[in-house]
Parts: sequence; structure tokens; C-alpha cells
Amino acid sequence: MARIPINLSTGKLEQASNIIVGIDLGTTNSLVAYLKEGKARAVSDEAGKNSLVPSIVHFAQDERVVVGEKARAFLTTEPQNTIYSVKRLMGKSYKDMEEHQQYFGYKIIDEDTESLVKVRVKDKFYTPIELSAMILKELKQRIERDLKASVSKAVITVPAYFNDAQRQATRDAGKLAGLDVLRIINEPTAASLAYGIGLDMDASSTIAVYDLGGGTFDISILHIEQGIFEVLSTHGDTFLGGDDFDKAIVDYWMEEHGFNFEENEQGKRFQQALRLAAEQAKKTLSTRDDFQTTVAAYTCKLTKEQFNALIQPLVERTLQSCKQALKDAKLTVDDIDNVVMVGGSTRVPLVKESVAALFGKPVFDEVNPDEVVALGAAIQADVLAGNNKDILLLDVTPLSLGIETMGGLMDVIIPRNSKVPSKAGRQYTTSVDGQTRLKVAVFQGERDLVKDNRKLGEFILEGIPPMPAGLPKIEIQFILDADGILQVKAKELRSGVEQSIKVRSTYGISEEEMAKMLIDSIQNAKQDMEVRSLLEARNEANNILLSADKFLTQNAALLSEEEITKTKELTNLLRIATEETDKDSINAAMDNLNEFTNPLAHRVMDVNIKEALSGKKV
Ligand code: ADP
Ligand code: MG
Repeated sequence: MARIPINLSTGKLEQASNIIVGIDLGTTNSLVAYLKEGKARAVSDEAGKNSLVPSIVHFAQDERVVVGEKARAFLTTEPQNTIYSVKRLMGKSYKDMEEHQQYFGYKIIDEDTESLVKVRVKDKFYTPIELSAMILKELKQRIERDLKASVSKAVITVPAYFNDAQRQATRDAGKLAGLDVLRIINEPTAASLAYGIGLDMDASSTIAVYDLGGGTFDISILHIEQGIFEVLSTHGDTFLGGDDFDKAIVDYWMEEHGFNFEENEQGKRFQQALRLAAEQAKKTLSTRDDFQTTVAAYTCKLTKEQFNALIQPLVERTLQSCKQALKDAKLTVDDIDNVVMVGGSTRVPLVKESVAALFGKPVFDEVNPDEVVALGAAIQADVLAGNNKDILLLDVTPLSLGIETMGGLMDVIIPRNSKVPSKAGRQYTTSVDGQTRLKVAVFQGERDLVKDNRKLGEFILEGIPPMPAGLPKIEIQFILDADGILQVKAKELRSGVEQSIKVRSTYGISEEEMAKMLIDSIQNAKQDMEVRSLLEARNEANNILLSADKFLTQNAALLSEEEITKTKELTNLLRIATEETDKDSINAAMDNLNEFTNPLAHRVMDVNIKEALSGKKV
């Protein structure tokens, strides 16, 4: 069934676009891009000039919300009503931000230090999610105006180091802005895609993505193989960026002229003018050798050489981070195939030159560095739209993946929030003598019992050579690719028989269902744990019963009548206990049996060893 949207205010048919857009939700600037005729393109403002939307939200007198360039003017005049750098607050508690409060010109609420931060504007409180949603709404309007159609699907980028809470907050912000966030992808991954790295399924490479923005710096080392991006390491400084370059220039001019800011309107205005002039100087010096302007009748000059000297220590700090990231990834500069430059501040020639010198190779800088992340997100979005079937990326697995073990227990092999792609395995064995088949049932979810989780599929490993229980070594491997496709392999290592299946871990499950599964697992955690420990006790008891029976039949000749009777009596008590639901009584019965049979087992073993040494067959 097709739905035809009608705009009620105009009475016209409303065009809904199928385009999935790519969004770079930045600390300093945000932008939206999409694929037009096979080429990623950032969407500009109405004047067709600027694609960057400053990530600033201003609350005007009449409660109106102003976002972007128009909000910037209020940064110095009305700092308490003008919110910037909200990305820094995403998924953070007040405690996380405590030591940084002075960085923000606005009020961060501290009523409960454990809970997530809120921003106070006048007499209202806003969460970072709501504030980010305001920026996203502005971007949504921008692209809808451009496409003359409504847009509802997006891919949003986040730094590689963002944790699950921060990624979730970003997703929620998208939802609040009326966007269906199909994927959250890492900024360095997006930047690589913009350069076409990762689009060739046969190529493999290791790259460094150097991202110097307005207020943050990060370096990520990625390994890309078969279109799968793996983050090997990240490093950086969340309080180092182009704004610090501006500040260094302001400080330099202030000292030169002996300026002092007065704590009044005029002083503020002068400070703001000086800061803007400094940014102007910095940008100019990216392409020229000197700069000059007048601020309030003062001449402010700066040469490229002077500028380089001012920022040298800051650039040096980023290089130290690069070295650390290489070290963490256990690589050297020679292992790096390409270096990708991201962020407006990488336009500064000294930055580019220093990074190229460190890595010993020219850097990738042809794509506009402040658009490159959004452009890459648009490429990823296009892949998701099904226009490029080759690659798909998934950042983390939302739910744990595992198999059913004895008694219906869930044995997690890949825990939730594992980075994707991911590979993990574990060894199992049989529980019955002569067992030749093993059922491998694959489940997804957080509950302890598989019956409460989602079944993804099952298969049977057949042809296990008959062996006593516990002897076969069956290795189960989970290989989850970037597409959310899970391959489960089972292999009996002694005989080499193997079997595998592929299942789609994200197929047919919505965000809401995933959220519900998580909530259920938290609410039932205590009860689940009790059931789990009962089942585990039962499993252990069954194994012990099995070996006790074996022990009796194999060693009857070495045991006294009394010992045999007593052992049988204790195994019977244990068998009865396993049929009840009290794990403590099972454990007690196990202890009793063990205590009695241990010395017997030692004695029997000694006899066996002696006989073996004297050459007799047992
Ligand atoms: P973020 O990722 O933090 O949102 P951006 O990548 O948009 O930030 O980078 C913004 C920074 O880039 C600002 O500090 C800005 O002054 C700086 N910048 C933009 N253009 C230039 C340029 N031509 N030369 C030097 N710095 C620039
Ligand atoms: Mg950025």
C-alpha cells in the first residue's frame, strides 16, 4: 500500500523523498549532504554560499529558537542564552563535566551529579539531546528546501571514541528531529569513504585519519578490508582545536598593544571583534603570507611566520597524539598507507606539513576538509538506500549473540556493544557418551534463558565420531560482519567435521523491540540469575552423576562392597536433588558425593598407575 502525503496547509501533494541524507553533527559546525547524480554534495544555505551551519542555538526574547550563523552573533552579547559545543555534553553526567563548567558560557545544571546534564536557559531546562535535535531540524529544513521534498532518513556521524551512551544520545536527537536514523557511523570511516577508501571490496589498507576541528582533535587508525572498517586505535585532545589558534592570536595582539578588556558591554564587543579578526587572520594566512586589519582603530598585523610560531606548540601536541595512536595500534608510520585530513583547521599549512612530515608521505587533502565527513556519510547513506550493494557498515552490535547450552541457558559469545566486525569463539563438548550429533541453536538477546531471547536459527553438526562424553572438542565460532550478518561455524577438532550457517542479526527487528529486549533483561536480571544458577548446578550435577556411574562400572573390582553401596546411595540422593528446584540442596548433595568419592578415586588412580608402570594392561 502506498501512502500519498498531502500538505494540509497548502492542499498540495507533498513529495516525500527517498533520499537518505548524511549528516555531520559537529562540535563547531554541522552540515548535511546527499548523493546527486552519483556525486556527494553538501547542501548550502539559501544564498548558495555556505554549507556549514554553526552548531549554535540561541534562545531569543520571544522564545524563538535561532540556529546557526544567526545565532553566532549572540555568543558574546547573550552567552547565557546562546548554546554552543553541545556535542561535548552528549551522553554526559554533570560529574563528567564538573571540571569543564568554566569552558561553557551557559549554565549546566548540577542538581543531581549522577544524572545526565541539562542546560538551563532562562527558566527552562534542555537536554543535550533536545539541543542537538534543534540543530538537526535546521539541517532537515535546509535539505527539504533544497530538494523541495520531505526527508526523513539519515545517517549521522560521531567521533570514533564515542561510547554507547553518546551514540544513543545522537540517535535520540535524530529521532526527536523527526529523522529515522538508519546508522550512526564513525567520522573517520565517513572521511575515508569520501576518498573512496573502503569502496573497493578487494583492496585492503591501513590509514590514519587526522581530524582537527574547532575545539577538538582526534586521530584514528583504521584498518579496512573487504569494505569492513576496523578502528585499531584512537587518540586525541577534546580541548584542542582551531579556536585555540584564534586565542593564541588574540593573546598576541593584546600583548603587543597592551590591551585590557573592560568588564562592560564595550569591552565584550571589543573582545568579540578581536576574536573575529583573529579567525580572519588565521584563515587568510592559510593561503597568504601576511594579514592586516583594523579593530577599533588599532592596526592588527600578523605574518605567517609569526602565526606558525604561535601555534607550533599546539600542533606539536597533536603529533604526540598521533605517535601514541600508532603505538596503541602496534604500528609504525611505515604501516600507514594513507593519511586523511579532516576538519577546518587542517587547512592551516603548518598543520598539513607537520602531519605529512611525521607520516613521511603526502596527506589526502583534496576533499574540502570541513565537508569531508558529511560527504562520506552521504556515500554511506546511498549504500544503505540500496544504490551500492557492495558495502554496509554497522558500528556496534545492539544485542548479545550466543548459543543455547544445556538446560536452555544462553551462552553469550559476542556481547552486546561489541565493535563490528567481530569474531569470537569458544569450545564445547558433548554431554552423552557416543553422541554423534550436536544441535547449535543461535540466539540474540540479554536474558539468561534462551526461551526469553530471539532465535536467529539453528543447525546440527553431524558426523561426530562416537566418543565418551566430554572428549569431543567442538569449537563454535561467531563471525559477525559489518553488515550484521552472523556466520556461525561449528567444528569438531579431533575429526575435523564441520558445519555452518549464516543468519541476519538485525533482520526484522526494530529499534523499539531492541530497546524492549534490553529493558526486559534489566527488569528480570535477579530472577534470571536465580534460574541460571539452578540450571548451572543441575548441569554440573548431571556431569558428576555421569562420571560417578562410569567410575563405578570401570573400577568395581578395586572397590569394596561398602564403598559401592555408599557411592550409589549418594548418587541417588544427588539425582533426587536435581529433580527439585533448590540449587543449594543440589550443591550440598554434590559436595557430599565428591567428598566421599575423591579419596576412592585417588586410590584407584594410584593402583592404575602402578599397574601401568609394571606393564600390565588395565
Ligand atoms: P568541528 O568538527 O569541531 O565542528 P570544523 O571541522 O568545522 O569543526 O572546523 C572548524 C574550525 O576550522 C574552526 O576553528 C575554523 O576557524 C577552522 N577553519 C575553517 N576554515 C579555515 C581555514 N581556511 N584556515 C584555518 N582554519 C580554518
Ligand atoms: Mg568535525
